[in-house]
Amino acid sequence: MKVLIAASEAVPYAKTGGLADVVGALLKEHRKAGREAYLFLPLYRGIKERFSLEDTGRKVTVPIGGRRISGRIFSHEGVAFFVECDEFFGRSELYGTPEGDYADNSSRFIFFDRAVLEACKALGLRPDVIHCNDWQTGLLPLYLKTIYSSDFFRGTVTLMTVHNLGYQGLFEARDYALTGLPPELFNPEGPEFYGKVNFLKAGLIGAEIITTVSETYAREILTAEFGSGLEGVLMKRASDLHGVLNGIDYEEWDPGRDSLIDSVYSPSDLSGKASCKRALLKECSFSGNDRKAPVMALVGRLSAQKGLDILVEAADDIVSMGAKIIILGRGEEEIHKSVTAAAGRHKGRIFLKVGYDESFAHRIYAGSDMFLMPSIYEPCGLGQLAAMRYGGLPVARRTGGLADTVEEYEPLKGLGTGFLFDDYRAGSLRECVRLAMCAYTDTARWNGLLRRAMEKDFSWGSSARKYYGLYKAALARKRRQL
Ligand code: ADP
Repeated sequence: MKVLIAASEAVPYAKTGGLADVVGALLKEHRKAGREAYLFLPLYRGIKERFSLEDTGRKVTVPIGGRRISGRIFSHEGVAFFVECDEFFGRSELYGTPEGDYADNSSRFIFFDRAVLEACKALGLRPDVIHCNDWQTGLLPLYLKTIYSSDFFRGTVTLMTVHNLGYQGLFEARDYALTGLPPELFNPEGPEFYGKVNFLKAGLIGAEIITTVSETYAREILTAEFGSGLEGVLMKRASDLHGVLNGIDYEEWDPGRDSLIDSVYSPSDLSGKASCKRALLKECSFSGNDRKAPVMALVGRLSAQKGLDILVEAADDIVSMGAKIIILGRGEEEIHKSVTAAAGRHKGRIFLKVGYDESFAHRIYAGSDMFLMPSIYEPCGLGQLAAMRYGGLPVARRTGGLADTVEEYEPLKGLGTGFLFDDYRAGSLRECVRLAMCAYTDTARWNGLLRRAMEKDFSWGSSARKYYGLYKAALARKRRQL
């Protein structure tokens, strides 16, 4: 079975968030298990600068509106393929800047999706399964059902993974003409969405199988609260919708041999974690006599989804309880401002770094005691998985993948791997932090919880096998139909 994973980002090539970790790790896990899997990505400028790629000598041409746009296909180690088109991808960012998304994102990803299919033909690579990820690859399933349903792709099935339903690739109706899809499909049963064109919806309609990244989120998105307007479409496909929990790459995230952190450590010898904490306090210019204070971290996109507004509201109380807060992230301009203001009010108690910094993220996971994820919704969340692996206990809202991966602390038994709250209110977050800080004062108990969290298994093996099972089931169904 040939599996082709199409995505707009994947480690180690390009990353803005969890999607890249998931795609990169899944590819790696499939290969490790001996499965024939390939990756297709746009060739962003950063990839060109950092990797030495081979030119396959193949070129594809895609009609976009009245234009015909061409791109060359590059490859890396015979596994990853890249669609080059400098006009669209030779830019510093993947999707846009803090001021907003690139204005031509519809054309960029129409081009990418069609170019992937053209490239398959040009390379003679006939996939059995195309595993699509988020709106950027949402048109692919519908292309396969329409203008690419020819012999070459006759046996190909698609699986569409929704990593975050909040991002749908919604564009003006006039952009539909750029897709080249049949005009009569532009209706509410098709990719039309309240007068606009919705790329993710195209994927939800066209794919044989739909997955999302946790069981709880798979149930949540069938409701109006979490469905972002697509709950009706998803309800119709409910029997083909599955939750497959994300993992993290245990080779990359391993406190026992992480070269980016101050000292390595393991559940049986936590002394290195104390050194990591000391180093982190120093790096954030927190004074040395703060060693007893719990350090709470947040690493992530600074977007409304991540619950930064209730964190900012609760921050005064949290620091007055004696905790230190470290925030690393970048995202929306408005949130940069409010978080910067909170950090300004609490110099020496809140440390903020606006930006993307992989190695600082590792040092934060290793040096902090708790990890804040007060998200409004969280399809899976990777931050809490990395935090637990490094012995930081999540303080998180009980939603989506957070509910599925964090075991709630039981004060009477001293069990659990983190702290959960339900209501999206600053007061509920504050009470949850208070409970965590109370548990933290009992070092023996805390270390018990921390070891438990570190020993949880969130590696990719079983989830990659689940995907493989779904590919097989979809293929078997398709073969019965042919
Ligand atoms: P999302 O996919 O919604 O952005 P996740 O929690 O699923 O959130 O994944 C985020 C991943 O990206 C985590 O591995 C986190 O450590 C990493 N990350 C997010 N922001 C930054 C940043 N500013 N610097 C370094 N790593 C980051």
